[in-house]
Amino acid sequence: MAEYDYDLITIGAGSGGVRASRMAAKFGAKVAVCEEDRVGGTCVLRGCVPKKLLVYGAHFADEFDLASSFGWTVGEASHDWCTLVNNKNRELDRLNGIYQRILRENGVSILNGRGRVVDDHTVEVAGKTHTAAHILLATGSWPFMPDIPGIEHAITSNEALDLLQLPERMVVVGGGYIAVEFAGIFNALGVKVDLVIRADAVLRGFDEDLRVTLSEEMTKRGITIHSECVVRSIEKDGKGYSLRMAHGDLLETDLVLYATGRRPKTDGLGLETIGVAMDDKGAVVVDEYNRTSVPSVYAVGDITNRMNLTPVALAEGMALANTLYNNEPMTVDYTNIATAVFSQPEVATVGLSEVEAREKHGAVDIYVSRFRPMKVTLSDRDERTFMKLVVDRKTDRVLGCHMVGDDAAEIVQGLAIALKCGATKKQFDSTIGIHPTAAEEFVTMREKLPDHGE
Ligand code: NDP
Repeated sequence: MAEYDYDLITIGAGSGGVRASRMAAKFGAKVAVCEEDRVGGTCVLRGCVPKKLLVYGAHFADEFDLASSFGWTVGEASHDWCTLVNNKNRELDRLNGIYQRILRENGVSILNGRGRVVDDHTVEVAGKTHTAAHILLATGSWPFMPDIPGIEHAITSNEALDLLQLPERMVVVGGGYIAVEFAGIFNALGVKVDLVIRADAVLRGFDEDLRVTLSEEMTKRGITIHSECVVRSIEKDGKGYSLRMAHGDLLETDLVLYATGRRPKTDGLGLETIGVAMDDKGAVVVDEYNRTSVPSVYAVGDITNRMNLTPVALAEGMALANTLYNNEPMTVDYTNIATAVFSQPEVATVGLSEVEAREKHGAVDIYVSRFRPMKVTLSDRDERTFMKLVVDRKTDRVLGCHMVGDDAAEIVQGLAIALKCGATKKQFDSTIGIHPTAAEEFVTMREKLPDHGE
């Protein structure tokens, strides 16, 4: 008789957990995954997928705005939020079904309920214990909100995806991925958006020029950015809310959305009982093979707070399944991972920012292009696309590509392959562009900026 009920029990059926479970089963392991919610995790249910559908919906505002410059007469456009939310939810139901089918067809058992580790090889789900040779923690992360008076009046991105109706005014607090994405969506759908950030520009950590450009473009589109601003308290005020700022100002609004980061979801998982080491941010500490401090317990995805992106969790899940059940020890290479922010306009980046490149490589050459996208040239719309290349002066290798503008994510994905291959600026220059596109600018930037910042 087998020593354990399963070879692997995964806690959490999100991107990382599902990928690891189904690959492990494919390699012949007996696998169960437990989930307290629907299968799919943050990406499918509360993140990337529903957000991108709302972003698509929001983009029509731009199309209607530009239509007349191409000769179209469109009647007065109006938007029905409930239709968008209902259609989005129907699609999520479909994807949930697909995820369940994938698990089933790969022979993975689904245990419904919240999983809790009770010892190194045992997980309790809905009052029943199950044993496994290996346990995988893949419970992801959850929105974090600072503890200020009145914070209970604020919503997070979880609720923003399913508002019953759109408010007239909204305050979004935070300047990261989620804040700028949701500010863009609601602004395009006609809500008056105030974005409150504590930095001087949005997207701290990204290339400085990119941050400034995005802040400017968001402002041009009607979002009011309150920079270097901190909310001290929120008070209910009739039907709306008053936000008291640290410097004394009051901001009145109808809805407050906090997008102030996410924290690893470890509450009630029982990790303290078996002594799984966690860092000061509450993330599970793992080595390059996703091993925790307890030999039979592994972790992938946001719970480890390495690079909190769906494709990274998928890669970690895949690497783990290969390591444990395919006799092929595998680690994830975290360099040159491209990322995009689906703000309006879109942002995408791969490699190092100018500041990071100078710190790591010393002398760098900078190439920048700013131009009016062709699509708006027939209108009076004031919009700029921004592109930047950061090049190592010693080796000529391209260290970073940054873009703000339409289709940035689609363009930068291809450039990420070039960076992975170690492409040089000379190789970028010898690549013939596709004309007329915005992307061709990345292979036609000839004039480097005069030396600065050294
Ligand atoms: P981020 O870490 O990206 O941004 C958090 C923001 O909140 C920062 O602007 C930060 O300010 C601010 N903040 C933090 N604490 C406070 C506070 N106490 N008061 C005021 N402001 C505060 O988190 P998100 O929630 O936007 O996203 C979480 C992660 O999810 C992202 O980092 C990303 O990894 C992932 N994600 C990826 C997406 C994509 O790939 N398109 C989309 C959405 C999320 P400051 O800069 O000053 O520290």
